[in-house]
Amino acid sequence: MVDQLQNKIFKIISNIVDDNNIESYVIGGFVRDILLKRDSKDIDVVVVGSGISIAKQVAKKVGNLKVSVFKTFGTAMFKYNDVEVEFVGARKESYNRNSRKPTVENGTLKDDQERRDFTINALAISLNNKTYGKLIDPFGGINDLENKIIKTPLDSDITFSDDPLRMLRAIRFATQLDFTIEEKTFNSIVRNKDRINIISKERIVDELNKIVMSTNPSYGFRLLDKSGLLKIIFPELYELKGVEIIDGLAHKENFDHTVKVLDNLCRTTDDLWLRWAAIFHDIAKTRTKKFITGQGWTFHAHEFVGAKMVPKVFNRMKLPMNEKMKFVQKMVLLHLRPINLAQEKVTDSAVRRLLFDAGNDIDKLMLLAEADITSNNRAKVSKFMNNFALVRRKLKEVEEKDNIRNWKSPISGELIISTFKISPSKTVGIIKDSIKDAILDGEIENNYESAYNFMLKKGSELGLSDTKGYCEKF
Ligand code: ATP
Ligand code: MG
Repeated sequence: MVDQLQNKIFKIISNIVDDNNIESYVIGGFVRDILLKRDSKDIDVVVVGSGISIAKQVAKKVGNLKVSVFKTFGTAMFKYNDVEVEFVGARKESYNRNSRKPTVENGTLKDDQERRDFTINALAISLNNKTYGKLIDPFGGINDLENKIIKTPLDSDITFSDDPLRMLRAIRFATQLDFTIEEKTFNSIVRNKDRINIISKERIVDELNKIVMSTNPSYGFRLLDKSGLLKIIFPELYELKGVEIIDGLAHKENFDHTVKVLDNLCRTTDDLWLRWAAIFHDIAKTRTKKFITGQGWTFHAHEFVGAKMVPKVFNRMKLPMNEKMKFVQKMVLLHLRPINLAQEKVTDSAVRRLLFDAGNDIDKLMLLAEADITSNNRAKVSKFMNNFALVRRKLKEVEEKDNIRNWKSPISGELIISTFKISPSKTVGIIKDSIKDAILDGEIENNYESAYNFMLKKGSELGLSDTKGYCEKF
C-alpha cells in the first residue's frame, strides 16, 4: 500500500502530524481511485484534531502556499502542483429531515468513515509514521471494490434520507465504474426516491453530467428509471417509455432507443452537449405520435416540437440557458436531415442547404445522425452507413467548391435599398431570400457579380427600377 502513496506531500504530512501528536489519514475518493488504478487528483486528508491547523503547517513547509480556510466547515485546502489537497477534522454528523446540511461535532476516524456515502468511499490509509500505509477498512470496502459493488456503510434508509443526493451518487458511481448497486441499497433508493426533491437542481445536474460523460451512460439512465428517480427529475425522458400496438403494429421503444443512441455517440465524441443532444433528439416522440391506418406509426414534426421543448426543460433542470442550449436545440431540430438526405439522391443543392443550416456544427450533426441508427437489421445499417459516407464526401466537395458553412450573402440589405431607392421593408427580405435560394439551389454562383445581376433581375420582376443604373446611363 505504501508505494501507492507516491506524492511527496504524504511524507511531509506524516512528519507534521507526528510532531503534533495527532492521527491523520488519507481518505475517500483518492484511496478508492488508487486502488482501482484510476487517475485521481484531489487528495482528502482527515485529521483527528484541527484540520485547519495541520493544513497551515503543511502548506508552510512545502513552500508557503496559500491556504483557503472554510471555518464553518472546519476545512482548509491548498493547491500543490496542480493537486488540490483538502484537510478536514474528523467529524460526526447528525441530520434533520428538511435539509442535507448536518449538525457537525468533532469525532473519531470511525465516526468520519461512518458519515461517508459508500463502503468504497470510506477507505482510509494511515499517514502517521508508525502505521504509515496501513489500510483502515471497517465496512468491507476492499471486498466491495473487488466485487464491484456500491453499498452504504450503515443503514441505507438513513444514509439516503439524511442526504438524498447520495442516491444519485450511487447511480453515478455505478455508471462511472461499471459497478452493481447492492440489492438492499438499491431497494432503499426506490423507497427514498421522493426525498430527491430537497436537493438543488444544480447538484442534480452535476451528477447527471457525470453520468452523461461516462463510457456507457445508458446504464445510469436505466438505473435512474428503475429506481423511480427518472420520473421525478426528468419526466420528459421518462415519458418516452413504453410501446403501443395498434393493428398488430408496434412502434419503437423510444427510451431504449434514446439511451442506445447516447451510448453509440459516446464511441465517437466526448462533447458533453452533443451527448445531451442525443438525449433530447427524440424527446417529443410520445407527444407527436399518431397511428395512421395503412401507414403505421408516425411522429410527424417531432424534431420541431422537440426543439421547442429544449429551452423549457433546460430551464427547469437548471441546465445552462446559453449557447449550449441553443446548440442542443439546433441539433434536435436538424437531427433527421442527414438521414433524409442519405435516403434520397444526394444532390449538390440538398447538400448546400444542409451545410447552410448546420454551419460549423455540421460535423457534430453527422455524428449524431450516425449514432441515431440503431436498427437490428444489419443490411439496413450497412446501407445507411454507406450512404452517410457518400454524404460526407459530398459535404466536403461542396464546401470546398462553394464555401457555404459560414455563408454570408454577397449582397447586403443596404445595397438592395440604395439600388432600388426603397425604404427598409419586406421587399428587401424577399430579394435577399431569393438570392440565398438561388445560390443554395445552384442557380447562380456564390459571388458578388452573379448575385448582383440576380438582384437586378429579381427587382425588375417585382416592378422596381434600378435607379443607379438609370443615373449611370444618363
Ligand atoms: P469524484 O471526485 O469523482 O466526484 P469522490 O468520491 O472523490 O468522487 P467527492 O465529491 O470528491 O467524491 O467527495 C470525496 C469523498 O467525500 C467521497 O469519496 C466520500 O467519502 C465523501 N463524500 C462526498 N460527498 C458525500 C456525500 N454526499 N455523503 C457522504 N459522503 C460524501
Ligand atoms: Mg473527489
